[in-house]
Amino acid sequence: MIGVYVHIPFCKRRCKYCDFFSTTQLGRREAYVQALLQEIDERVPATDIATIYLGGGTPSLLETEQIAQLLQALLNKTTTEPTEITLEANPGDLTPDKLQALRQIGINRLSIGVQSFDDEQLRFLGRRHNAEQARQAVRDAQAAGFDNISIDLIYALPGETMTTWHRDIDEALNRNVQHISCYCLSYEPGTPLTKLLESGQVTQTDEEIENAMFDELCSQLQEHGFEHYEVSNFALPCFRARHNSSYWNDTPYIGLGAGAHSYDGQVRRWNIANLAAYVKRVLSHSTYWEEEVLTDEQKTIEHIMLGLRTRDGIALTAELRAKAQHLIADGLLREENGQLIATPSGLHILNRIIEQLI
Ligand code: SF4
Repeated sequence: MIGVYVHIPFCKRRCKYCDFFSTTQLGRREAYVQALLQEIDERVPATDIATIYLGGGTPSLLETEQIAQLLQALLNKTTTEPTEITLEANPGDLTPDKLQALRQIGINRLSIGVQSFDDEQLRFLGRRHNAEQARQAVRDAQAAGFDNISIDLIYALPGETMTTWHRDIDEALNRNVQHISCYCLSYEPGTPLTKLLESGQVTQTDEEIENAMFDELCSQLQEHGFEHYEVSNFALPCFRARHNSSYWNDTPYIGLGAGAHSYDGQVRRWNIANLAAYVKRVLSHSTYWEEEVLTDEQKTIEHIMLGLRTRDGIALTAELRAKAQHLIADGLLREENGQLIATPSGLHILNRIIEQLI
């Protein structure tokens, strides 16, 4: 069983905080889809595809017909029906007609990039939708029959208070969605947001407030029945993101498209993160990827880094126990049924903990 990720690197405009690989050259969509179809044909073996995830960028910027072509090409390769087919979508793209059409072609899970229910914050982030469009997109998706919807939220924006954060959490809970992904605003090198920070035009939220916001999120969502199953992800029972879970539990996955990564348990491979070069090379049968064979040490490091992000943790070996002793004593990690798991306080400083274990 494998998971398949398809990267759709198009955005109408770039958000201030984003450092993902994407482009605003929407005129290249059809050429890109043709290259993707060829990559599917050449790289995806006849196999059992468990999950398909169309991520971006903004996959909802493709025509439904283009998405259907990609899905059909993948479904032609699989011997069993994938259980989860997710499409990432911008609220502004989700009209009732488009939602109906997406359901009809087999999309059974939507991940909607809400980010905030506050218009001022959405403007600050450079998003192209407003709060009412976000609410309407979720309502329309539910009316179209989607019963597995995830929304993304971002917290710790400059000037954000616990009061406004509470409002966002309440709004998210009132939407009756099955899954919520939530990220602390990060200042990545070279983004317009980071330039604002460097020039003193915005101030980063204190770590103490960030932690308080995260704790509030965890407690509110858990109180409402959500399981905190990965550091940034919360799901109602039976609604964990199956595709994303494959990244965290070492299941092989194939990444298709410019900038996409693949891993088969031994080899990590990444496609060129340049749209024009990707299309040209795929269509001319030139090499468009690089790859490396992971050493046992690299695999162990990945296993710890990814596994500790999850509620299930990692198997506690004798070697790990020796390294983790003081972290367990400090209440940052705990042992449960032979697994090593980060505690709520440990989640605040997960990267520092991982550094001490690898
Ligand atoms: S829509 Fe998503 S991928 Fe595109 S610029 Fe905004 S955050 Fe980045």
